[in-house]
Amino acid sequence: MEVLRLGSRGANVKLVQSLLAKIGYNPGAIDGVFGLQTRQAVIEFQRDNGLVPDGVVGPATWRFFERFLLGYDTYTIRPLDTFYKIAAKYYTTVNAILTANPDLVPTNLQIGQQIIVPYGIDVVFTDIDYTYDIMERDIRGLKARYPFLEVGSVGRSVLGRELYYIRLGTGPTEVFYNGSHHGIEWITTPLLMKFIENYSRAYATGSRIRGYDVRDLFRRSSIYIIPMVNPDGVDIAINGPQPSNPYYQDLLRWNDTGLPFQQVWKANTRGVDLNRNYPASWEEAKAQEPSLGVTGPAPTRYGGPAPLSEPESQALVNFTRQHNFKLVIAYHTQGRVIYWLYQNIRPPRALEIGQIFAASTGYTLSNVPYEAAYAGYKDWFVEQYRRPGYTIEAGIGRNPVPISQFDTIYRENEEVMLLSPIV
Ligand SMILES: [Zn+2]
Repeated sequence: MEVLRLGSRGANVKLVQSLLAKIGYNPGAIDGVFGLQTRQAVIEFQRDNGLVPDGVVGPATWRFFERFLLGYDTYTIRPLDTFYKIAAKYYTTVNAILTANPDLVPTNLQIGQQIIVPYGIDVVFTDIDYTYDIMERDIRGLKARYPFLEVGSVGRSVLGRELYYIRLGTGPTEVFYNGSHHGIEWITTPLLMKFIENYSRAYATGSRIRGYDVRDLFRRSSIYIIPMVNPDGVDIAINGPQPSNPYYQDLLRWNDTGLPFQQVWKANTRGVDLNRNYPASWEEAKAQEPSLGVTGPAPTRYGGPAPLSEPESQALVNFTRQHNFKLVIAYHTQGRVIYWLYQNIRPPRALEIGQIFAASTGYTLSNVPYEAAYAGYKDWFVEQYRRPGYTIEAGIGRNPVPISQFDTIYRENEEVMLLSPIV
């Protein structure tokens, strides 16, 4: 990990600030600038954990942070330990320990045995730039805490990043949600990740969310989620292009907008807009490009040299073909609007379910296809399967929607994610 010290800036500084705040320190504003107050919080953390209190986040301090970032510790059972005592020591619950260690018998703990002890804090970050690395760590942390989660990969991005999927539930009714087709729309990833965390916790504790019986939903349905379809694009949209990226020089050329990548980059690392790369009127989308000023790889709206030219869109199509989704949702930002139409195809119940979604979110159900009404994921799904497929444009304002909208966006969309399998 990157060494952080006074004067450092960027996504990792935000991560450390957010973590310190979460575990009870005061690093000041979570602004990505490593200032005096952040350094003081690091020094206090180092003192409390027996580290050299130099205020520099080097490898040793990162190792300690890593545990809190993952949200659990590996604990070795000692004489006279009980789950209750361990839970008290870690400010967590017996249920959380039991959930993370399903094969252990609490009355028969073996000295020297290693168990996973989740801290009494949430795993998923919702107040910072949500990079691929943060998502990957959060997935590991959730999987350790909730071993009943099925986690896998549907393929790799152009730059070789795993395209993770998470399955919630074991039932026969399958639905599919995905996020971050577009780089600067990365806020849709923590939206889906936070849902995974809340759903898993409710399942583990047998509680309800908004009146929905999550254990019952879990038995009846399987919610598949790909939280980040375009990790290379998200990385560019958050960190800007890096010299280590083989497309670095190309990217600098392709972004001819005069604006920073953080404000404009939607495409993958080859400058292909993944949501114009699906084989549903791809040729029509291509024909529009000159009038949109697109002549080749670009921050947005370039559909690629051929339908499914990109590994990310190929992976989504293959994954979809291996399943029997009764409904799909592709999360984008922004506009607080729900798109459901593709050409003149009206899948059974698609309008009715769209109206239910609109009522639940407070978003507008649009009856006009929008500019990307061609060659998007939901377009392909609707055409192929004649089943309900939605593009939900969450949040309002300008892309990238600021993370300060997270709580509102989550509140608006949680019920849709709960009711889709049973609607
Ligand atoms: Zn989008």
